[in-house]
Amino acid sequence: ERMVEIERFEGEGSYEMTLRPSTWDEYIGQEKIKKNLRVFIEASKKRGEALDHILFFGPPGLGKTTLANIISTQMGANIKTTAAPMIEKAGDLAALLTNIEEGDILFIDEIHRMSPAIEEILYPAMEDFRLDIIIGSGPAAQTVKIDLPRFTLIGATTRAGMLSNPLRERFGMHFRMQFYTPEELGRIVTQASHKLEKRSQKDAAIEIARRSRGTPRIALRLLRRVRDFAEVEDEAEITLKRARYALDELGVNNLGFDEQDIRLLELLVSAKNKPMGLSTISAALSEDEGTIEDVLEPYLIANGYIERTARGRIATQKSYEHFKLGGMKEGLF
Ligand code: ATP
Repeated sequence: ERMVEIERFEGEGSYEMTLRPSTWDEYIGQEKIKKNLRVFIEASKKRGEALDHILFFGPPGLGKTTLANIISTQMGANIKTTAAPMIEKAGDLAALLTNIEEGDILFIDEIHRMSPAIEEILYPAMEDFRLDIIIGSGPAAQTVKIDLPRFTLIGATTRAGMLSNPLRERFGMHFRMQFYTPEELGRIVTQASHKLEKRSQKDAAIEIARRSRGTPRIALRLLRRVRDFAEVEDEAEITLKRARYALDELGVNNLGFDEQDIRLLELLVSAKNKPMGLSTISAALSEDEGTIEDVLEPYLIANGYIERTARGRIATQKSYEHFKLGGMKEGLF
């Protein structure tokens, strides 16, 4: 029942399920990762072996879970999905691992949140497909060894840096997820609107894409909202005009910054080149440090708006120019 609970907890509404690509062709972008994975999958199928363990890292919503599902389909394997915080006791992990079949995939999200005690049990499971479970305590304690079928662990994390070295090294493949280009996101939006039976005109799809912080999950959420606006107006297709109107209403500016991004940029610009520490930023924005590091900053850094230095974060020239040109403060909100 745990599995079911996690799925629900993650808010996988039927909407996200129907839009989730199940083939390589539907999975747009991340070309390098796709190319490599296809080779490794083909090779392991030829050898009749389970795929090596895989680690995906990168900001949320870029398609890690979706990739894990496509891999399982391509391998013809079952997939079990869980998140590290749900594995509290050795017994939880043992229950997962003893219930899988040869070649199956175990997907563990937020793998950087695994407790050290559970990690210890995972090592021999990953390396030698063996579980060493200690039963009882003190002098009466006994180690029970259980042989496991050869399985593939797919781990996902927003923070590769928080993974312990021994854990990271046990993954045979490491893939860093990239933000999507507006062109790629535009294709994702177009594909999803087909599935939703509400076509988007090309310029409308690109507009939604440009404002989605390089992230499919955000693009799909905005598409759903824009579609609501179009439906209320009885429009058969999503037009650029309606998309712009809806996105402005939603408080997404035309670079794809949301209100929290803008607050962060304003804060750093107001600091006038003085680096600002994470805890100061966190207090000023009332946002937790993890969210700032994992969600807010990566997109702004990738696009050259802020920099991380040893002494803290600073706004780049690009940010200053942006604010001097005006518009952001008055025009959009
Ligand atoms: P998290 O790290 O929060 O678990 P994630 O990286 O696993 O997020 P997914 O849940 O896989 O993200 O993807 C979010 C949504 O975006 C899904 O509904 C999926 O359908 C869609 N999506 C993700 N990547 C792609 C892609 N490359 N092509 C088309 N749709 C995608």
